Amino acid sequence: MSPGPRHGRPPADFEGMAALVTGGGSGIGAATAALLLARGARVAVLDRDPSGAPAGTIPVRADVTDAAAVRAAVDEAVGELGALHTLVGNAGIGAVGTVEDNDDAEWGRVWDVNVVGLVRTARAALPALRRAAAKAPGRVSITHTCSIAATAGLPQRALYSASKGAVLSLTLAMAADHLGEGIRVNCVNPGTADTPWVGRLLDRADDPAAERAALEARQPLGRMVTADEVAAAIASLASPAASGITGTALAVDGGMQGLRPRPA
Ligand code: NAD
Repeated sequence: MSPGPRHGRPPADFEGMAALVTGGGSGIGAATAALLLARGARVAVLDRDPSGAPAGTIPVRADVTDAAAVRAAVDEAVGELGALHTLVGNAGIGAVGTVEDNDDAEWGRVWDVNVVGLVRTARAALPALRRAAAKAPGRVSITHTCSIAATAGLPQRALYSASKGAVLSLTLAMAADHLGEGIRVNCVNPGTADTPWVGRLLDRADDPAAERAALEARQPLGRMVTADEVAAAIASLASPAASGITGTALAVDGGMQGLRPRPA
């Protein structure tokens, strides 16, 4: 999906705004950071490995499971950016298996990243978001990367799905809590997005190319969605034009939830 129609160039609708993207060192987060930058924002990337942050963004290193590190990294980013209007809470990890396959330690590890990681990031960023919202209400937002796993029963994804269900509930609760402060809170629900994460999963198969072809064939679109397509949805929810949108989950799943599978 192209970032915008005007003369083939992206719109400058984030001009004057500052954004922080967690997990922006790879995949959906990196695509989002690059798109926000192209649309005029100043952008910082928080990642446990920010080496893949797009050129032109400000990389800050933190693991979202470490509250003190997150606070320090968010403070550093806000200091460099000068303000914060757009927080994209995107860092997340996967887990495969039924409730019998993942033990309590694994549940704690994934929950700590996917759910509490967003909470730590939001806590650290809210003071700066509040300051920005006082000056520019409607322009300030938090967007989480959730998943269609939050609302669809996927096999072999008990822990991952439960964590994303919590992300959806957290998003709705935060939207209610911060409405009066002029901070909108939404999430995107990607289906299967072609990112390094999915590449790593496919690489575990005996025949990764055949597994990829089978995965693509299961998608209503006949292909996975791209990281750029998910980024475009995140940017649309975070853009000033979305000033009337809060407490919403936007599926970016190529029709997976709404359409029947393609006939074989
Ligand atoms: P990815 O592995 O390509 O990128 C994830 C990034 O997050 C990496 O840069 C990684 O270093 C960072 N990260 C992971 N754990 C971290 C931690 N503890 N602290 C700081 N940074 C950390 O994955 P992706 O596919 O781009 O996934 C991004 C988000 O999209 C995740 O929340 C994931 O659940 C969600 N999602 C992905 C898909 C998909 O099919 N790819 C589908 C639905 C939802």
